[in-house]
Amino acid sequence: MSTRSPDFTLAAGPTTVSARVLAAQGSPVTYHYDPAFLDRFRTLGELVGKVYGTTNDIILMQGEAVLGLEAAVVATVRPGMKVINLANGPYGKGMGYWLVAHGAEVVEVETGFREVPTPEMIEAAVLANPDAEMLAVVHVETPCGTVSPLKEIGEICRRNGIVSLVDAVASLGGVEIQPDEWGLDICVSAPQKCLGGPSGMSLLAISQQAWDLIAKNPNAPRDSFLSILDWKSKWLEGGKFPYTPSVSDVHGVIAACEQVLEEGVAEAVRRHHRTAAASQAGVLAMGLELWPLDPATAANSATAVKLPDTLTDEQVRDHIRHRYGVMISGSLGAGNLVRIGHMGETARSLYPIIGLAALGRGLRDLGHDVNLGKGIDAAMAALSDAPNL
Ligand SMILES: *Cc1c(COP(=O)(O)O)cnc(C)c1O
Repeated sequence: MSTRSPDFTLAAGPTTVSARVLAAQGSPVTYHYDPAFLDRFRTLGELVGKVYGTTNDIILMQGEAVLGLEAAVVATVRPGMKVINLANGPYGKGMGYWLVAHGAEVVEVETGFREVPTPEMIEAAVLANPDAEMLAVVHVETPCGTVSPLKEIGEICRRNGIVSLVDAVASLGGVEIQPDEWGLDICVSAPQKCLGGPSGMSLLAISQQAWDLIAKNPNAPRDSFLSILDWKSKWLEGGKFPYTPSVSDVHGVIAACEQVLEEGVAEAVRRHHRTAAASQAGVLAMGLELWPLDPATAANSATAVKLPDTLTDEQVRDHIRHRYGVMISGSLGAGNLVRIGHMGETARSLYPIIGLAALGRGLRDLGHDVNLGKGIDAAMAALSDAPNL
């Protein structure tokens, strides 16, 4: 296996970052209490709020999004508290393990990993559990390439007085999300997916209802790396850092947010959608199967492709990387599939064609015949129908 850098990173995050983000990452490293850095950190909070389109509090934590997700769980969950968990993929399942570990009484809504729960299923679960205080949902289950009906889920939660906890890691900047209009209480995202930034920060948006729930939890950590409350009291209310942020990452994430805001968040979402639609059309025309059973639930941020039983995801992924210099993602335990990422920089132009060509020809190299020409033709037709404005 070559250890030369890949020519194309079409993984489902971290993904290729722009020259502008790379350059920003190389900004001088200053003392974190330097007034210039304090100003930059404040600016980042404002930019993240704009990308989310929310007036909720923004908490920026220094660690890949798993930090923000775990911090949200430990802040909210009291022993015996009832939580509805939508477990339609590996991240949803993982959320369930955390909830249980912290003493929640968890009601799981399961569909299998090739589907997402419908609003009717969720409404039924909520009505059957009127004492539930929180509902956890993964907006885009990246390992499955599926997107959940988050608008309806948020509205159901709001109508029933339930705090929603949303893993928006693989959606912010690539799939529409409206925390305020849809009533999403805790959103956790990250820069290294659709925003096209560096991995290393958790970007949270927290509503007053969520703070009220956290206030009821005597176990919510304080003076801890996992503490959201530290960031609220020290940074939001006191302008002091509970611990030192990664100065370089902050500069990089600012550049990534500025780029998305200059383009317009809605336009960035449209671009991710266009790329994913071309990729999905190509997969089907090649004679392959999408992993999501209902194409309407296929996500903008990654196309998950079911593999024939004769091949494993690692075999296909590694072959494509080795022979063509293209890095796609394996399955992360969701099933026998590979994923072509459409995130940030790679959600534009002919990136989906590169992914399809490498995958299609790679499968043929490995003995599984596909109609590569038809796949490329269909993907190009989809791109041509929705020009790159
Ligand atoms: C990428 C991602 C995360 C971040 O977790 P890692 O496992 O460290 O990549 C969390 N949730 C979702 C849905 C993601 O796509």
